[in-house]
Amino acid sequence: MDTSTTGGPLPREAVRPLEALLQDDDPTHRALLAQLPHPRVTGHCQCPCASLDLGLDRAAAPAAPVTPDPAATASMHDADGEPVGGVLVFAQDGYLSGLEVYTWADEPITRLPPPDRLS
Ligand SMILES: [Zn+2]
Repeated sequence: MDTSTTGGPLPREAVRPLEALLQDDDPTHRALLAQLPHPRVTGHCQCPCASLDLGLDRAAAPAAPVTPDPAATASMHDADGEPVGGVLVFAQDGYLSGLEVYTWADEPITRLPPPDRLS
């Protein structure tokens, strides 16, 4: 497990897709978006993909309405517009708890996608 950024603040490349997935009028998404300054990286996926476990101080922001996971989803495409996988946002008890990247290909996606690759 790569622990190099564990415990650190969310890297910018994680904040941008989270902002993109949560930026709408859904009340759960709005509340999770309001939590974005606060999460820290608490773990990485066992495989080389870019999925992150997140945790935050629950005193820092109000809980979002609890919904079934994933709390938000987007599909991901490559530079040619071909679908390559997707991104899932997870929440636990109304708090951001994970950002997962999955792929349709054999190789894991090792970098979080920029927002313009999401739809
Ligand atoms: Zn993985």
